[in-house]
Amino acid sequence: MSGRGRRFVVDGMLGSTARKLRLYGFDALYFADAPDGEMLRMAGARTLLTADRALAAAAGRRRLPVLLLAGGDDAERVGEVFKFVGHAPRLDPSLSRCASCNGELAAAEGAGAPPKVLDSHDEFFRCTACGRIYWEGGHWLKLEAFDRRVRSLMGMEAYGLADGTWMVRTARDAIAGYLKEGRRPSPRSVPAFAKASRGVFVSIKSYPSGELRGCIGRPMPDSALVDSLVDSAMDSATADPRFRPVTAEELAASTVEVSALTEPVPVTAEKPLDYRKEIVVGRDGLMLQWEMGAGLLLPQVAVEEGWDVDDFLSYVCMKAGAPPDRWLSGGVKLFRFGAEVFYEVSPGGEVRRKSLDR
Ligand SMILES: [Zn+2]
Repeated sequence: MSGRGRRFVVDGMLGSTARKLRLYGFDALYFADAPDGEMLRMAGARTLLTADRALAAAAGRRRLPVLLLAGGDDAERVGEVFKFVGHAPRLDPSLSRCASCNGELAAAEGAGAPPKVLDSHDEFFRCTACGRIYWEGGHWLKLEAFDRRVRSLMGMEAYGLADGTWMVRTARDAIAGYLKEGRRPSPRSVPAFAKASRGVFVSIKSYPSGELRGCIGRPMPDSALVDSLVDSAMDSATADPRFRPVTAEELAASTVEVSALTEPVPVTAEKPLDYRKEIVVGRDGLMLQWEMGAGLLLPQVAVEEGWDVDDFLSYVCMKAGAPPDRWLSGGVKLFRFGAEVFYEVSPGGEVRRKSLDR
């Protein structure tokens, strides 16, 4: 039923990783305290997953299939397993196995699920071995957030076009609703991915000139994507200090663009000139903090303006209110982040993913 092609035996230090792998449909046997000899006996028919270098070496000497997962967190380890088996992560509850016992799941009536869950869900799975009931909600939602992290760690896109379209439409509706009603709108149906925490920026551009009319965001993943999105959309229309507020008429003649950010990570270098080696135009957005303020530039800005890395560093200094060469004199904090960008081709029109290739 799993069709994953690989069966694993997982060592006692990797219990939570084993449970995640089962939910992805891998057949993952796990024993909290099996002796090494027992693990090696089971490897062969199964690939051994271990955090123990000595055990991995012992398996290697016996020419047993083994994957050493020595560091990182569950998402990084699951990503390593997917690279090892050579296919992309895909969450499909009908392919899952039981997280607690590794048994196969079968479609089931909801008997045994809490009444509240029975009312709001119609697809249930029961473990054929231990009887535990699963449904697409609750922990499944957490698993979707986990899956996005696995995918972005693997350098894959976290959002599909349908997700991007939802983000852009929701941003436009939030602006239109706020301009009309004067209060913060709350989107009615929110997909699971938008409940996970994420940094977001919303840009408004005049059409067809492409001139910027507002761009505000929340760089840190401090709140749910949907909340960052609605707040940023309202702010980009009415609270960007560089522009006068956008009117409803102008919105009807403007395009909306949404950037979903990965968490900013510090750029470190022994000397400031080496920042240049750590930054890639087309991959990175930049955030710079110095003693007088902070500034941020989205990755697509460097691409659209045709900047090289030196230009990008100079412009982010100026965005922070600093002299363009401020990054060279040290004492600044520099962060980089990635973004997936979705935009309207025309006002309220088709949504596309923006390519950040040069
Ligand atoms: Zn079970």
